[in-house]
Amino acid sequence: MINLYSDTQSRPTDGMRAAIASADVGDEQKGTDPTVNRLLKMVSTKLGKEAAIFMPSGTMCNAIAVASHCNRGEGVIAESTSHLIRYEAGGMSALSGTIPEFITGSSGQFYAGDVEAHFHPGSRYTPKTTLLCVEQTCNLAGGAVWGLEQIRDVGATAKKLGMNTHMDGARLLNAEVSAGIPAAEFSDQYDSVWIDFTKGLGAPMGAVLCGSEAFVNRAWQWKHRLGGAMRQAGMMAAGCIYALDHNVERLAVDHVNANLLNDGLKTIPAVKVRQDKVASNIVYFDIPGVKTSGVEMLNRLYARGLQIGIVGDGFRAVTYLNITRIDIENAVAILADTLKE
Ligand SMILES: *Cc1c(COP(=O)(O)O)cnc(C)c1O
Repeated sequence: MINLYSDTQSRPTDGMRAAIASADVGDEQKGTDPTVNRLLKMVSTKLGKEAAIFMPSGTMCNAIAVASHCNRGEGVIAESTSHLIRYEAGGMSALSGTIPEFITGSSGQFYAGDVEAHFHPGSRYTPKTTLLCVEQTCNLAGGAVWGLEQIRDVGATAKKLGMNTHMDGARLLNAEVSAGIPAAEFSDQYDSVWIDFTKGLGAPMGAVLCGSEAFVNRAWQWKHRLGGAMRQAGMMAAGCIYALDHNVERLAVDHVNANLLNDGLKTIPAVKVRQDKVASNIVYFDIPGVKTSGVEMLNRLYARGLQIGIVGDGFRAVTYLNITRIDIENAVAILADTLKE
């Protein structure tokens, strides 16, 4: 089975499993797990922030960041296709009582002028816009990578307006590798930023949220409140440390494979790719005439040994560390054969 459903399907390698098995552990909730503490130091240094906190998932990072930055009844600016808005069960409203202000951008991105246009200082009638969120890379835009100047400009503009700024960096390290720009430069105008270890980095669990000491202290209280404080979490942190040491530079291979897939799809007449070139590891495509509302197409591909996904009104395939060049060649052949029928 070639599983291109998502990079969340990545499996820990033997080396990572060995690191997990031999991890030194303590009590994460008490701040005394040495492996968690080592991971936090590594990530906060890498992302240029004062402090960090270990989370079970990226979704919890976003939920807790919003809760830590905002009061109830306040507004949060985010792009309308962002994960925060589309795929987090309404957590920003359900948990923090915030109201989203959508920006309809292009490829998940927008400009400083959009932030100014959607910002409200707050009044007796209008909710105060407290938080700006961006996503790097943009999941629903095929892993598009924000340019450095644009993402800094958007963040700096929000800060000038008095807002807090948050970056969903689930795949920030894909952006780092794709653009050849250190992650900390992309996030330097953002008060909080997190990276996910369960996507292309291949760990079984974990995300790390970074920010100032004061922000992380607020985040700790929310994490505890939501039941996210852990115990011998060093075993999971060991997988994340292993990923930082071994699986970052190799993300470039996933980007090459995504483009190989994209180029292969271009040779199938029934397929229309969404992007000429893929910036990181997510390939979106359409098959005009094939319904995305049912799973018939997915079932036919599955029967031949290929898993892909449907997101919105398109098909999605994602590369990651367990996917080889040969898998990609086979995936293209399976799609071509299936569509010939
Ligand atoms: C996957 C993802 C998340 C959520 O992360 P989980 O670890 O799956 O909870 C948030 N934002 C983006 C952009 C993602 O791709």
